[in-house]
Amino acid sequence: MPIPLQIGDIIETKKQHPCGSKSFTIMRTGMDFRMKCDGCQKEIWIERPKLEKRIKRITRDGENLQF
Ligand SMILES: [Zn+2]
Repeated sequence: MPIPLQIGDIIETKKQHPCGSKSFTIMRTGMDFRMKCDGCQKEIWIERPKLEKRIKRITRDGENLQF
């Protein structure tokens, strides 16, 4: 089942970005996702299956989302 990600969700990934941050904000959803690194503000395009494998935690409106 796909993870119900929405724009504005903050995700924590297993792998860190080169800048050291593990926190990203979802900017766009669809076949490919665009997310912004919360450390260096860089925007990244990523395919959904790849992204889903990397997600460790989702935060929405300040609360952890169960998935
Ligand atoms: Zn970064």
